[in-house]
Amino acid sequence: MTDLLFTVPPAPTVAVARSTARYPVARIFCVGRNYADHAKEMGVEVDREAPFYFLKQAGAIVESGATIPYPPGTSNYHYEMEFVVAIGAPAFQVPVETAMDAVFGYACGLDMTRRDLQLAARAKQRPWDLGKDFEQSAVITEIVPKAEFGAVGPQRITLAVGGVTKQDAHLSDLVWSVEELVSHLSRYYHLVPGDLIYTGTPAGVGPVVAGDVITGSVDGLPPISLTIAAPDAA
Ligand code: MN
Repeated sequence: MTDLLFTVPPAPTVAVARSTARYPVARIFCVGRNYADHAKEMGVEVDREAPFYFLKQAGAIVESGATIPYPPGTSNYHYEMEFVVAIGAPAFQVPVETAMDAVFGYACGLDMTRRDLQLAARAKQRPWDLGKDFEQSAVITEIVPKAEFGAVGPQRITLAVGGVTKQDAHLSDLVWSVEELVSHLSRYYHLVPGDLIYTGTPAGVGPVVAGDVITGSVDGLPPISLTIAAPDAA
């Protein structure tokens, strides 16, 4: 046994539908501006030349159904409902035509965002990490295998806060498709099983406060939920 000075938290894992085996998380890639209506509400245009990404640490994973504290350092904490792709086979420089071979399955996700910090960084042309890559910022449901879910496109994606619908779109609205994203990412990374891709959010993002309950759905996937509690005491 290696003699370690201390231990760090193990890699998080995600439940898989109708399986006792869990899916260990390696990396979390997130796609920016992948629905035209959301790009518009953020005051920017969709870049149709290439998708772009930011990452979250694997340790940011939170299971659907959790109650988490309002995060530190923000006064504009936003939900973003997303369709999540779970990679299940290595992929490096794969063409669009075979990119789906690398996909294991799909889940509902929430890309929780400190919007004020993200926009402040954006304005200064700085990285988005403080706004995007923070503790408990990547919520996810169990993963449904690809074959069970079927073709991506007609499914409706929705989110509500306190039962009031805020986001309502279809996966056919994705600017960059699942196979295009996997192919494109594989030009820059050696994708491995355990990599998750949060594929972007539709229009209708907005703030939540302590006491709010977020619920979301994608047809064919288990629904997602998250409850926001008071901030942690110092
Ligand atoms: Mn997002």
